[in-house]
This record gives sequence, C-alpha cells and structure tokens, in this order.
Amino acid sequence: MRIFKLKKEYLFPFLESISEGADLWAPTKKPEGKHSFQIIKDFSQIDLDYTRTILPPRKIFLPPSFNMFKATEKKYEADFSHVTEKIIFGLHPCDIHAILIMDQFYKHHYNDPYYIEARNNTLILGHSCWPDEHCLCKSAGTDIIEEGYDLFFSELEKEYLVWIGSSKGDDLIRRKPDFFDENITDKDIQKYIEWREEKDKAFSVSIDFKNMPDLMELKYQDPLWEKLGQACLACGSCSNVCPTCNCYNINDKPFLTENASHISRCWDACTLESYSEVAGGENFREARSLRLKLYYTHKLQAYISKYGKPACVGCGRCIETCPVDINIKTVAQSLDNETVDAFWDRFAKEVTK
Ligand code: SF4
Ligand code: SF4
Repeated sequence: MRIFKLKKEYLFPFLESISEGADLWAPTKKPEGKHSFQIIKDFSQIDLDYTRTILPPRKIFLPPSFNMFKATEKKYEADFSHVTEKIIFGLHPCDIHAILIMDQFYKHHYNDPYYIEARNNTLILGHSCWPDEHCLCKSAGTDIIEEGYDLFFSELEKEYLVWIGSSKGDDLIRRKPDFFDENITDKDIQKYIEWREEKDKAFSVSIDFKNMPDLMELKYQDPLWEKLGQACLACGSCSNVCPTCNCYNINDKPFLTENASHISRCWDACTLESYSEVAGGENFREARSLRLKLYYTHKLQAYISKYGKPACVGCGRCIETCPVDINIKTVAQSLDNETVDAFWDRFAKEVTK
C-alpha cells in the first residue's frame, strides 16, 4: 500500500480538482450543532470536526425513498436516477466498515442492482477521527480500516498521511501529483504512532461482543426484553440511524392521471409495528419486546454466527438517538449483567412499584 503526505492547505484544492463532474458529499454542521453528510457547493461548509452524522452514509447509496421503476400494463422501465457520480469525503473507519457490511448483504448475499450501481459510481475518501463517550468501535474492531476506501486521510498536525486503497484512489492522486510528497520520514511515522496510541487510550466504554451470541441465546426469555418493550416508543429511530440496517419496503404508487404506476422503495425498520404485519392484519411481532429481540438478534447474534463479527460497527448513533436509552451499549451491558443507568430500567422500576 502506498502512502503520501499532503499539506493541509492543499486539501480543499485537491477535493475541488477531483470533484469536477461528480457530487462531492462531506460532513457539514447543522444549526443545532449536529452533523450531516450533504452535497458540497461551497468548501467552507465542510466541517471535519465531527464524531458522527445524524443519518449514516448509506443514505447516499440508497436514499430513504426512491423510485425503482415505472410500470404500465405492457412493460416496466427501471429507474436508476438515484445513481450519479459521487465522492464521499470524510468517512470515519466505523462507517467504512458499515459499507463493507452493506456490500456483504447487497453485493454478495444477493445482487441488488440499485445498490451495486450506486456503489460502483461512488468513491470513498475516509478521514481519521477521535472517539467520544459513545464510541464503541474499538470493541467492535472497527476503529481501524484497512480496506473499503479509495483514499484515507489520517490527520496529523500540519499535514495528512494519505493512504491509497485502490487503483481509483491512485488515479485521483495522479491528477495532482505536485500536491503529494512520497517522502515519509521517521518523524512522520513517530507522530502517527503517538497519535494512534493516544487515540487508543481515549475510549471510555467497551462491550465484550464475543460473548453476545451465547448471551442472546441464553437470555432469550429473560425479563429484560419485557422491560425494554415497556419503554420502547416504536419510533424506528434506532434502525434509521444505524449504518448497518438494511431493511426496506416496496410501495406501489398508482397515478390516476397517468396510465402507469411508480414502484418506490423506502427504508423500513424492524422496530416499527407495521414491519411484521401481513395481509389480513395479523402481526407476527406485535409486541415491542419481540421486535427489539429481532433487532438485537441481528446485531449481536446472527451476523456474528455467520460472519464472525457483529452487525454493529460501534458508531454510537443509537446511543445518541434513542429517547429511552435502549441502545447497543445498555442492552449489551444488561445481557452481561452489568449495572446500567438507563431510562428504560428506571421506568420498569416505577411501573412495578
Ligand atoms: S447498533 Fe448502534 S452503535 Fe452499532 S452500528 Fe448500529 S447505530 Fe451504530
Ligand atoms: S429502541 Fe428507542 S429508538 Fe428504537 S424504536 Fe424503541 S424508542 Fe425508538
């Protein structure tokens, strides 16, 4: 793998030069202080001082709702208008790991042309990060990334170490060779190692993911699930913010004014009541506790059993988002018999008083 140095003042000119003819997506700060990946029109919008975005980058490949095809009595026409040339800049290692999980599902498990086309037309430019109190990537083994990107920018004091991860990444560097310096000194390496060691020490929470498949199995009937179900609002936010959730629904949209229907695809969430409803109004998982078991079985058991790693990359979005503290940290800690300080636990104690 080749590594170059890039002076910080060259970053935006480099991004400008490579994004001609493509949509450049990068993290931007919203007025309320949270971050969101947006198409960049003005480079001053980019804010790299962020930990996580509200929605995960999967929204860039498969938007929350898009048209799949138009159907008439005689034919249907596929619609790939969501596919454009894109560059995503500023992705953290956990989110790149999540894209690799999406690849596993949509490219290898079965071929989803809507994902594959979007993925093939998107360049991934990663960026280093610093953990906050919700980051679990070290526990999930996703704090470092060695594949899945075209370029990765590790930020040091005045420059970046730029790792080339693909031939497409190499082509990007060749567009502005004068910006890049191949002379990596011992001092640069030392600075990078020190930064890595400091980052390692900055994690304040951890989860023992390797015990989770057994604990999920052993505690499948545990009263914990009823407690969680009592407090859950069934809002679906935990699924919508998770970078590895991939459920979707298909809607037919007939138009009275056109002799055609549009078939659209939108994100779905297993924590929503409608998710397991079938024709006739039957619902296989009417209880919220059952839907939460499904969500956590996927994250903490099924994916680990099949692929040897959790379907959680430790991004911390569910921790920041769930209004009643049901998240990967509180659930895993409870399964592991650790004491948690969570709304759902206090709520359960109140209702049983
Ligand atoms: S379960 Fe939570 S921490 Fe894990 S990847 Fe999903 S949102 Fe991130
Ligand atoms: S666990 Fe939390 S975020 Fe998820 S559906 Fe329930 S209340 Fe909403």
